[in-house]
Amino acid sequence: MTTVHTEHASHAHIHGPDCGHTEVPHGDHVDYAHGGHLHREHGGHWDECEPGGHVAHEGHDHQHGEDCGHESVLHGDHVDYLHDGHRHAAHAGHWDDH
Ligand SMILES: [Zn+2]
Ligand SMILES: [Zn+2]
Ligand SMILES: [Zn+2]
Ligand SMILES: [Zn+2]
Ligand SMILES: [Zn+2]
Ligand SMILES: [Zn+2]
Ligand SMILES: [Zn+2]
Repeated sequence: MTTVHTEHASHAHIHGPDCGHTEVPHGDHVDYAHGGHLHREHGGHWDECEPGGHVAHEGHDHQHGEDCGHESVLHGDHVDYLHDGHRHAAHAGHWDDH
């Protein structure tokens, strides 16, 4: 999974297990849902964890929705669903890895 390196400037808050933001397991790391952004720790600062390109999840039969059983987090103008360490977002009739 490639991600764009976008550092969140002036991020004084330190995310952690008790910081009150939703923890989002994401591959080999954890994101924190923070005001519609997803932040990951990176060498002492916080990055926006954004997908670097369009990655469609192949063979995704499950339809995410209000009662699908997966946790959801706000991501900009849409919602990501937490699905086995991936973030899935609806896109033109399929599901993207975010
Ligand atoms: Zn936090
Ligand atoms: Zn943050
Ligand atoms: Zn960074
Ligand atoms: Zn992430
Ligand atoms: Zn997303
Ligand atoms: Zn999914
Ligand atoms: Zn797509």
